[in-house]
Amino acid sequence: MIQKDVGFVIRRHNFRETSLIATIYTSRFGKISGIFKGFYTSKKEFSSHLDIFSLNEFIFYPKKSEIWLVSHADLISDYQYLRNNISKARAAGILFNLIDKTMQVWDENKYVFDLIKNCLDLIEEERELKIFYIFLIKFLTFSGFQPEFSRCIGCNNKLSRNIAFSVSKGGLICEDCFNNARDAKIISKQTSRVLSYIQETDFSLVSRVKPTPECEKQIFYILKEFLAYHFEFNELADPKIFRHIMMSFNKTDKVGYS
Ligand SMILES: [Zn+2]
Repeated sequence: MIQKDVGFVIRRHNFRETSLIATIYTSRFGKISGIFKGFYTSKKEFSSHLDIFSLNEFIFYPKKSEIWLVSHADLISDYQYLRNNISKARAAGILFNLIDKTMQVWDENKYVFDLIKNCLDLIEEERELKIFYIFLIKFLTFSGFQPEFSRCIGCNNKLSRNIAFSVSKGGLICEDCFNNARDAKIISKQTSRVLSYIQETDFSLVSRVKPTPECEKQIFYILKEFLAYHFEFNELADPKIFRHIMMSFNKTDKVGYS
């Protein structure tokens, strides 16, 4: 049956002379692959350039085969500011690559769709690094990979004094369980509070959070390790990106999270 839905262009490549194939994250169907036949010739059906990051309304024909025929695409927003800001575009690009890598096709998830939209709306005004880690914490939570940030992942007790992060266990651990996790790394109490606050708080409020640079560095370290260990997603550890992100932290920081 013919369907209409909105979606973000995650990835695209040309197909033959005149057509285009794109990966799209839609509101009601999750990630889909669509072919736009005659994209470069029929201007009437496709009013959008289908740039990466753009939000469009699509008309398509869902079927069992992997690639769906898309007959219309109308641009809703192309997030123009991303074309003029390399740093924000790079941050958004990493997030889109992560969605592409981790989300299965046709696995509908309205929370993830809304999260993408909220982040692209907000990243224009806010510091990209902050939106970046808010997105990652919420994305891991909404998509079911949920790192444990509220209780000890070893004994389920409340976290109180010394708190550490264990990448192999996938969450925070208390000092009683510390010895059972060889990869545990101590983090500050503020970091643990911010992680759990971002995970549990509605997006409309969460961007008000104001962690210290030291705290942000620990959050970034935790997310980098988590994504590399559990998803083999190493883009945060890319030396060029890593250096860029580290430069945006306060230089007075003394703890070596790298
Ligand atoms: Zn414990």
